[in-house]
Amino acid sequence: MPSERAAAVTPFAAMDVLERATDRADVIHMEVGEPDFAPPAVATEAAVDALRAGDDDYTTSRGRRSLRDAISGYYAAEYGVSVPAERIVVTPGSSPALLTVLLATVDPGSAVVLSDPHYACYPNFVRLADGVVRTVGLAPDAGFQPAVSDYDAAVGDDTAAMLLNSPGNPTGAVIDGDSLSALVALADRTDTAVVSDEIYHGLAFDAAAHSVLEYTDDAFVIDGVSKRYGMTGWRLGWVVCPRRYVDTINAIVQNTLICAPSFVQAGAEAAIRHGTDWLDGVRADYRTRRDILCAAAERWGFDPGYTPAGAYYMLLDVSRLGAAPAVADALLETAGVAVTPGPDFGANATEYVRASFAVSTDAVREAVARIDAVLASATTLT
Ligand code: PMP
Repeated sequence: MPSERAAAVTPFAAMDVLERATDRADVIHMEVGEPDFAPPAVATEAAVDALRAGDDDYTTSRGRRSLRDAISGYYAAEYGVSVPAERIVVTPGSSPALLTVLLATVDPGSAVVLSDPHYACYPNFVRLADGVVRTVGLAPDAGFQPAVSDYDAAVGDDTAAMLLNSPGNPTGAVIDGDSLSALVALADRTDTAVVSDEIYHGLAFDAAAHSVLEYTDDAFVIDGVSKRYGMTGWRLGWVVCPRRYVDTINAIVQNTLICAPSFVQAGAEAAIRHGTDWLDGVRADYRTRRDILCAAAERWGFDPGYTPAGAYYMLLDVSRLGAAPAVADALLETAGVAVTPGPDFGANATEYVRASFAVSTDAVREAVARIDAVLASATTLT
């Protein structure tokens, strides 16, 4: 029998949809956040050169110093903050970084505060760390921005951590600087660990997203190259730790993960050092796709009441056509467009489906044309 902990873990619906959608050849895959861009060429060249040069051994668990220096330089250049390389631990993807941080901060039975909607996997991470999920609702008419007073009400003596995500999955909302700073102050007052998932940083369309590191040194920041540089399969992430946690996090990584692949570290370092122009171009394309999808959502009567300001997702309010899982099934069957049903992202997302615009601009246009055609002849899809 699986352990109680393991039995509580639910499947990741986006991956389930992906599995079903691959049975059909012509599907446009808007269910997963898989960037269509090839990574910056410098990254691929650096990784291949490293592999050819025999760079395929273990590195130190915290990651190669030159990569951690590059990450430190990125925080100085992007946010004007000083993050010494000693506070950075590299991991094989940001997901293991998040699990490591929760294992280091959550005692059995203590609460972790998440927003609702939230990234589908967060509650499962909390369960694997033997914590208890506590959610704070976000509303579309507030642009899915957090109300600090709601967080204040949710955080108590039993709360180990507050998990923030901006730009957010599944909403694409970017938390404004004042709210972030107030949430950090609340965490400080209540001795709650701040865990800020900044994996979609670099992908904000209007103003740049703020890092919690602009407001405090006493926070964990989870990040990596998957989303920003289109390097999902490379498996390279990192965590910026509060100083007093560095040794604990490093000890967990030493025992459980050992290190991120060495030649991948070489490629990631090249992307971070030399990928800025590449990223500027990619961001402009995502913005174009976002605008195409937002205009279509309004025409379809799927307008979610907000405009995603970052990441590459938006929630579509499909409630006028039926229940979200049935609408997602119908869009796959009739239009060959795969999207993820909202319930996976929390109770406040049940009326929505999540569409990812990480597919090419042509694919976004084709998906819009197909859904236009299907909706022209249907008042209900289910
Ligand atoms: N956080 C969020 C909010 C995500 O959407 C994802 C990927 N879907 C991750 C973390 C995990 O990314 P990685 O590939 O670095 O493990």
